[in-house]
Amino acid sequence: MLFEQAQALFPGGVNSPVRAFGAVGGTPRFMVRGEGSRVYDADGNGYIDYVGSWGPLVLGHAHPRVVEAIERAAAAGTSFGAPNPYEIELAEAIMSAMPFIERLRFVSSGTEACMSALRLARAFTGRDMILKIAGCYHGHGDSLLVNAGSGSITFGVPSSAGVPAALAELTVVVPYNDTEAIERAFAAAPDKIACCIIEPMAANMGLVLPQPGYLQALVDIAHRRGALVIFDEVITGFRVARGGAQALYGIAPDLTCLGKIIGAGLPVGAFGGRADVMKRLAPEGDVYQAGTLSGNPLAMAAGAACLRELSQSGVYERLETLGARLEAGLRTAIDELGLRAQIHRQGSVFTLFFNAQPVRDLKSVLASDAKAYARLFHFALDRGVSLAPSAFEVGFISLAHSPADIDDTIDVLAAALKSTPVQAATA
Ligand code: PMP
Repeated sequence: MLFEQAQALFPGGVNSPVRAFGAVGGTPRFMVRGEGSRVYDADGNGYIDYVGSWGPLVLGHAHPRVVEAIERAAAAGTSFGAPNPYEIELAEAIMSAMPFIERLRFVSSGTEACMSALRLARAFTGRDMILKIAGCYHGHGDSLLVNAGSGSITFGVPSSAGVPAALAELTVVVPYNDTEAIERAFAAAPDKIACCIIEPMAANMGLVLPQPGYLQALVDIAHRRGALVIFDEVITGFRVARGGAQALYGIAPDLTCLGKIIGAGLPVGAFGGRADVMKRLAPEGDVYQAGTLSGNPLAMAAGAACLRELSQSGVYERLETLGARLEAGLRTAIDELGLRAQIHRQGSVFTLFFNAQPVRDLKSVLASDAKAYARLFHFALDRGVSLAPSAFEVGFISLAHSPADIDDTIDVLAAALKSTPVQAATA
């Protein structure tokens, strides 16, 4: 009913495409309330939630400290269009966790952060081309909505209508985990590539982890060729570790993009990094970037409250324990059934690939059985477990999930894996 109304109002009935259930079929649930690990739909059904608003809700839904911070900030005014003290509090919390961020700018989404970081890298290097990795998503800025055809190096073809071919040609796309392809891309366009942008752990083609040495090699090649490295940690920042993937691997990018957790569910993004690069940004420098709601007090207060919670000892250990519990339970079910499925997990982020082969790049990701995932998804949703509505998105565990939530989820997913429709395609 609500979806019918929405279809008359919004293209596809939604305001962001993946919510439409296009990849899994069926009708999206309209969510009206969240509390801790649970979301509730407009018909009153509750779900153990692993979407977590696509990553921001590491504390769970409606965390009391976050709600309180938003209420307090809102009561004092929703926006000033002038600097406010919450910006400083949140920036200091970010920079204390991510020492490679020497200067920072807040924006209102991950898309904006990545778009702006690209502009900055282009200005700083005086180069126009960029190198991105197939299967990594950096928001919907024109230069970044470019995919590779097959083959190792493909000069960009737009993956959305409306992206000018002339712009797409400036984006080179190479496979994830392929150092040679990066070398070849730079060799094919000497002194032309401004930056490499990458999700240090790819989490937009399911979760695909970097092979040992890959990220450092990418940084080394880029720097040798005079290009900057942008780590897009919109998902991984404050998620896989307080300091993100760069802390986990001990690698220094030139610029970092953030979003999601730093806004605790309110619209926030940020980009930052080397002071000599960031000082090119207006008003200090000549690279224009601005936003009416950038540094919005509600969003800053929410983010600061969230990062305060995350600075307590033991939180990442707790996320790891919950993640390991889910992984072990699913692995047991998969092994008992002899299924061709694999679990990738880093802390509280996980993906189940219906794939017999190791998954290490977009090509191997796409060899997975997305139809089997769609059946698993619906089986789980009907039994009160909400997974991402696409085989190629990750699941997120929050600090509000209890061991009992995880065990209930294992029971539901193990039953799904045993059910004939899911197994048919995978055994
Ligand atoms: N980068 C990454 C790694 C993302 O996962 C996303 C969104 N899922 C973005 C950028 C874009 O962020 P937003 O949707 O806030 O524009």
